[in-house]
Amino acid sequence: MRYKYCPVCANKLATRIPENEIIERQVCGKCGFVFYDNPKPACGVLVVDDNQKILLAKRKYPPAVGEWTLPAGFMEIGEGPDECAIRETFEETGLHIKLNGVFNAYKGGDDPRHAVVLIVYLAEVISGEIIPGDDVSEAGYFDINNIPVPIAFSSNEEAIAEYRARYL
Ligand SMILES: [Zn+2]
Repeated sequence: MRYKYCPVCANKLATRIPENEIIERQVCGKCGFVFYDNPKPACGVLVVDDNQKILLAKRKYPPAVGEWTLPAGFMEIGEGPDECAIRETFEETGLHIKLNGVFNAYKGGDDPRHAVVLIVYLAEVISGEIIPGDDVSEAGYFDINNIPVPIAFSSNEEAIAEYRARYL
């Protein structure tokens, strides 16, 4: 992601390596603002039932429309990663879950909106029925050895592959 103008003072931004740094950044020559374009944290869940079926949601909006993902989404300001994972799962699938610890975290470099860090939890459903949320067209359980394609985002593919390698 890039800015054209300084979000603080509206001066045109330049691109250079700031003093004592090694990475090129967008900087404002007027007020000194430096744009640190860090990845955004997102949280998702691996819900796999006793029959080795995994909970997935189909994306309704860009990017990756019609592709399948773990229930997941971006953290809101003031929210913890665990709260984010629980909220996103409920919003996308209608299911209330309990988290069973962090599974792993992944670099997401193929989301066109911005760089992402995806924190993935192991989780289990405690109540609710599947009701696809506003931003998904479908949600359901699929045999983890025969998941629908395509899976959106390399981070999701990596998490599912790692789950298979560890537990199946
Ligand atoms: Zn400025």
